[in-house]
Amino acid sequence: MSDAIRHEVGIPVPQQKQRHETETGQLISYVLPVYNEAEGIKHFHAELTSTVAGRPEFDYEFVYVNDGSADGSLRILRDIAKNDPRVRVVDFARNFGHQIAITAGLDLATGDAVIVMDTDLQDPPKVSLEMIDAWLAGAEVVQARRRTRRDTPFKRFTAHAYYRLLRSCAEVDIPVDTGDFRLLDKRAADELRSFRERSRFIRGMVASMGFEQQELLFDRDERVAGETKYPMRKMLRLAADGVTGFSTVPLKLITRMGFASLALALAGIIYSVTLRLFFPEITVSGWTMLMVVMLFLGGLQMLSLGVIGSYIGRIYHEVQQRPLYIVRDVIRHDQA
Ligand code: UDP
Ligand code: MG
Repeated sequence: MSDAIRHEVGIPVPQQKQRHETETGQLISYVLPVYNEAEGIKHFHAELTSTVAGRPEFDYEFVYVNDGSADGSLRILRDIAKNDPRVRVVDFARNFGHQIAITAGLDLATGDAVIVMDTDLQDPPKVSLEMIDAWLAGAEVVQARRRTRRDTPFKRFTAHAYYRLLRSCAEVDIPVDTGDFRLLDKRAADELRSFRERSRFIRGMVASMGFEQQELLFDRDERVAGETKYPMRKMLRLAADGVTGFSTVPLKLITRMGFASLALALAGIIYSVTLRLFFPEITVSGWTMLMVVMLFLGGLQMLSLGVIGSYIGRIYHEVQQRPLYIVRDVIRHDQA
C-alpha cells in the first residue's frame, strides 16, 4: 500500500528506519523519580549536569518527580530548580510509587528523546550519553542491561531468578536484567503515554510495544547515599504486577492442578469403594487418609482462590478509573 493511500484511509504511515541526524537544538528529556533522596540528590544533579555538559549540541530538560518524599527532598529540588532553568519539579500529593512517578515525568517530558533514570547514581549518567549515541544511530528504544550489580546477594539472587521466571511465562519478550533505565524515542514515548493501566510494570509495557529496541550493557553502581526505597513489600508488589500484567500462566496452572487433583481423587474413590465392597471389616480405619485428603484439597482451593483473587483485584482497580496520580504543584525555574 502506498503512503498516499495509507494517509487517505487514516492508517499511520510507517516510519522508515532512519538515523536521527544531529540537528542542533534537539531536546533530550531526563525523567527523574525522587523518593526521600535528600542526602544524595544535590550531588546527583551536579553529576548529571556535568556529564551532559560534554554534549553541548543538545538542549536538555530535567523533569524531577517528587514522589511524596518526607525528608525535605522537595526543598532541595526547589533549590535545584531555582539555580537551573532546565529543571521542572512535579510534586506529588503523596507517595504513589516508582512506576507511577516515572509515568508522570514521562507525561510532562517533551523531548525528542526521553531518558528515565534513578536519582541515586546507581544508573551512571555517562551511560545515558551512550544511549543518546545509540539513538542517533537509529535505535528507538535503548534498554540498559545490568552486566553486574552491586546489591545485596539476596537482591541479586531474587532478581536473577525472577527475571528468568517472568520470561518463561510472559506473553511478551521481557528482556532479563533490565530495570527502568532506558531511552525512548519521541514516537515510543508517545505510545507509552497512551498506556494508562494502574498496576504498572513499565519494562513489560515497553517490551510489548515493539520498535527498534537495543540493549546496552552497563555495570550498576552502588547507591551514593541513603538506602533502597524498595522494601520487600514494594518489590513483591512489582513482581506480582509483572506476572499478572503480562501472563495468565498462573490461571492456567490452576486448571492443571485441578486436573491433577481430579486424577488423584478418582484413584482415591476407586480405592475406598473397592475396600468398602470387598473388605468391609477394615473400612473403619482411614482417618489419617481423610485428614490428608481434606487438608490437601483445602489448601489447593485456597491457593487457587488467591490466584484468581489477585486477577480480580486488578480488574477492580482498573474499572474504578481513578486518576493515576495527583499532583500538588509543578515547580518551574521562575516560580521556585
Ligand atoms: N522511588 C520513587 N518512589 C518510590 C520508591 C523509589 O520514586 O516509592 C525512586 C527512588 O528515589 C530512586 C528510584 O525510584 O530514584 C529507584 O529506587 P531505589 O534506588 O530505592 O530502588 P533500587 O535501586 O534499590 O531497586
Ligand atoms: Mg537504586
